[in-house]
Amino acid sequence: MLISYKFRIYPSKAVEEKLNEQLELCRWLYNRLLEEVNRARKEGRKITRKDTQALIVKLKEGKPEPRKVYSKVLQMVNYQLWSNIKALNELKKRGKKVGWLRYKTGNSFKTMNFNQSGFKVDFERGKLVLSKVGEIPIKFHRPIEGKIRGVIVKRTKTGKWFAIVQSEVDPEPLSETGRVVGIDVGIYHFCVDSDGIAFENPKFIDKTEKIKKVQKRLSRKQKGSKNREKARLKLAKLYEKLENQRLDFLHKLSRYYVNNYDVVYVEDLDVKGLVESKSSTLNRHIHDSAWANFLSLLAYKAERAGRRVVRVKPTNTSKRCANCGYVVKNLSLKDRWFVCPKCGWEADRDYNGSLNVLDVGLGRSRTPVEREPLPLVIPYRKVIEGQVLSVRREAPSVRAGWFTTSGRE
Ligand SMILES: [Zn+2]
Repeated sequence: MLISYKFRIYPSKAVEEKLNEQLELCRWLYNRLLEEVNRARKEGRKITRKDTQALIVKLKEGKPEPRKVYSKVLQMVNYQLWSNIKALNELKKRGKKVGWLRYKTGNSFKTMNFNQSGFKVDFERGKLVLSKVGEIPIKFHRPIEGKIRGVIVKRTKTGKWFAIVQSEVDPEPLSETGRVVGIDVGIYHFCVDSDGIAFENPKFIDKTEKIKKVQKRLSRKQKGSKNREKARLKLAKLYEKLENQRLDFLHKLSRYYVNNYDVVYVEDLDVKGLVESKSSTLNRHIHDSAWANFLSLLAYKAERAGRRVVRVKPTNTSKRCANCGYVVKNLSLKDRWFVCPKCGWEADRDYNGSLNVLDVGLGRSRTPVEREPLPLVIPYRKVIEGQVLSVRREAPSVRAGWFTTSGRE
């Protein structure tokens, strides 16, 4: 199976210019091939991927610029066009009303796919080498397992660059547990699940205050001075430490869920962003990006272990009463406690939310069991220290020491 790693890359000005130029050529090619497909459709001619593939060769004869791009990357542009067409046709088959493919305008072509060849990942020197592009410094924040099959270079909206490294690994299936769980993004905790377990927000997420202080100090130092360089280095190290701790926590937490459950239901945060407004504080933002990171780690660990992660629509998951299904209209983000005016069920809001996530996931209208309203909070240190391998809330009356530990990960 293929798994992906996303690493930030730092092209020099000159290399960045090349990348942008090549992306523009890929965009041109994509549109040119789409034009050909459209013409054939109009004339009622059959056209296939091989036809447009052959066209690339012809186009290169007439116009020298595309030769600046590694040939396999151009082939993958054609591949991308046809997979878009295929996806569209499948939607149509399922009765969805969809339009036809649009031409790529402006900066909308964002990726170059070096599939199978044309790249070299140099761990020792921390470099990514791409054919017809050059060397780009790359930051490996974790080791790559398996055999590398391809690299996708990606430009973000804000102009950052990433390399998505795809590698082939053997699956490591786990035996079934017979358990499923729903997880809600926490507002006070990192997350809360339908088994009544809350994971404490890692305190290092709040270290941003410290970073702000160092940043302020840095801005006061004279440019080019030794002290400024010192402060800059300190800041960089602080960031790096924070990032490593954060990842470590997320790795272990996702491992916990994959090991203990066959199916994990989670909220689809992208959708949530659209339906529920959230406060835009820095910490909130960091928490959201940590959540996104957590989901991607969870997804890849789950796939490898033969588990399932299912994203559910978060419509009303926080406002709905898990006990009777009543939707509370005026619940605000500040309300930590959920109280149902209809049936009287009260619970920690995120716990109530996680029960709803599970219900939506399982397609049932309410949770039919007796529950404790308060989740058991697991300190983040326990996660980092690898002490949380399985947590059980056996007896609802017990209030402390609920988690069992059975050795280290
Ligand atoms: Zn209710």
